[in-house]
Amino acid sequence: MWALSGGRLPDGAAADVVVDGERIARVGAEAAAGVPEVLDCSDRLVLPAFVDGHVHLDKVLIRDELREHDGTLRGAIKAIHERKRRYSVEDVRGRARAVIEESVRQGTTRLRSHVDVDTIGKLVPLEGVLAAAAEDIAEVQTIAFPQEGLLRDPGAYELMEAALELGAHVVGGMPHWEADEAAQREHVRLCFDLAQRFDRDVDMHVDETDDGGVRTLEMVADEALKRGYTGRVTAGHVCSLAAADEEYAKRVIDKCARASISIAANPVTNLVLQGRGDRGLIRRGTTRIAELRAAGVNVLFGQDCVKDGFYPFGRGSMLEVALISAHAAHLTTHDDIAYALRAITDAPAQAMRLSDYGLAAGMRADLMVMTAGSWEEALRLQLPPESVWFKGRLVAENSVTSVIYH
Ligand SMILES: [Zn+2]
Repeated sequence: MWALSGGRLPDGAAADVVVDGERIARVGAEAAAGVPEVLDCSDRLVLPAFVDGHVHLDKVLIRDELREHDGTLRGAIKAIHERKRRYSVEDVRGRARAVIEESVRQGTTRLRSHVDVDTIGKLVPLEGVLAAAAEDIAEVQTIAFPQEGLLRDPGAYELMEAALELGAHVVGGMPHWEADEAAQREHVRLCFDLAQRFDRDVDMHVDETDDGGVRTLEMVADEALKRGYTGRVTAGHVCSLAAADEEYAKRVIDKCARASISIAANPVTNLVLQGRGDRGLIRRGTTRIAELRAAGVNVLFGQDCVKDGFYPFGRGSMLEVALISAHAAHLTTHDDIAYALRAITDAPAQAMRLSDYGLAAGMRADLMVMTAGSWEEALRLQLPPESVWFKGRLVAENSVTSVIYH
């Protein structure tokens, strides 16, 4: 048994956190009394480790090997095809592992990764990410993600079945990529069929376009409500919702709330992918975070991409993701900034249905200590965590030295 003593919790209160094995034993003032091994955390922030609820580990770090393209989603997907044909399990494993390690250094110990399942890469990306996901420093959920479509890519459905049998945890999808509305609806139906057959949750890429007429979010919400898949569905990106009219937006947000659908808004990537056709006033490409929040819909922020065909930056830092997302979504009040913390901690934990997440007795001891004394300062200063624990075990330490000479 050991303890962090006197650290500041996100609400500003000072408290001790006592760890017993893989779990938090208790949290509170003086809770560390009598504990033999105590780490003094006075005036430093103690947080539950971050959760990255939306990332693509199979594609990370391929940027330098791709041809340049027009910067759009379509351009990126096409530019990746050639590289995807050359994937090997070891290649994917090595790149995914590097980003898992970088994420752990930056305080993230649970990730949910989409992994392409299609007739180009077949099951190689999944085999690579599963091999990288050995549970020594972090826990990784995988999503079987048919990025090239299901109807557009004959054979992908059978590969999705094989991916779920191989160990993919969640059923992915990308209905807006299909040729027309009927095919989009069929794509959604097929994904939910798979999810029910294999008893898996659903986490789809939905409406990642500026075209307000693209409305597969409503198809997903209707399907979830019809099948009673409440609280088991996440929709990612949902960019077109920002471009749609108010009446549709209100109706579909209400359906998302009723179906307890989580929304993975990924402002970091969508800031650079969307709005490419705009001149003058360029849209941000971020979904309606304020309206979703007001309606009580669970919204998380994901890293999405790390140096791949879609996004040239990223370093597995959810602190950076929260800062960029706060800019994109106008999160500036104290309440807003607390909401940005929720979007990289409790919100993705809820979407992933983690039952043992958080700073409370009985929860898994995935923790970190930040140099800053408050969440707002941690977000502003962007320093890496001093220490990170996974299941009660120290898995990363960072130190930053800065000296000014007069
Ligand atoms: Zn994505």
